[in-house]
Amino acid sequence: MYFIANWKMYGDLKSLNSLNKVIKFTNTNKRKKIKLIYCPPYTLLQAFYKKIKKTRIFLGAQNCHYEISSGPFTGSISPQMLKRIGSSYVIIGHSENRSEGETDSQINKKIKSCIESGLKVIFCIGESSLQRGKKLTQKVLKKQILKGLLKVRFSNNILLAYEPIWSIGTGNVPKNYELNKNINFIKQILKNKHKMKNPKVLYGGSVNPKNVKNLASIEGIDGFLVGGASQNAKNFIDIVKKTII
Ligand code: PEP
Repeated sequence: MYFIANWKMYGDLKSLNSLNKVIKFTNTNKRKKIKLIYCPPYTLLQAFYKKIKKTRIFLGAQNCHYEISSGPFTGSISPQMLKRIGSSYVIIGHSENRSEGETDSQINKKIKSCIESGLKVIFCIGESSLQRGKKLTQKVLKKQILKGLLKVRFSNNILLAYEPIWSIGTGNVPKNYELNKNINFIKQILKNKHKMKNPKVLYGGSVNPKNVKNLASIEGIDGFLVGGASQNAKNFIDIVKKTII
């Protein structure tokens, strides 16, 4: 099971102290099949890496530019820059970035550059509440996957994160049958169109220590992308514990 902490635009150097508890937790649960990935803001990546490099926690970034190495792109960070400072993963296509104008074509270019740089991609997809209301969810998911992964090779370096936009930060989560149906639908596309043998699909959207046990019981879920609740070490550890114990 994957557990990804998306800290969004939160945190400072002091927040790194909260990692001590998480490191201790991973050290005492060495034999459990869990993978913890922290995605702090860019400003904390280097300090995070120093802290976690000898631990069982992995580092990820929250986005990057599609230009693989460097260039005249003010305010941007390239995949190679992320790789060089110790990132192993990067979130691409988060709805909070899509809502600011990030297009499927940019997402596709970013995914290709990240994979070429040796980063693993956490590729986010999800429908809006309006699209869900119009019963367009699967059409939207299929379009996002096909456009985002167009001509992408080595797709085994990609984790899909299904994050319905209406569930992010709202406290609302899909019903079990709905989530199960959509996760299976995503896996079928990845198997049929992208020849992924064993696609990994995570769920993200208002996951917390109270609802995670039920969510984890849904067949097909390979882990969770956690926003708000991941900023508190105890909550994040509880999410992991309730899933695996
Ligand atoms: C996210 O930002 O990816 C997310 C899932 O947020 P939250 O857990 O706060 O809904």
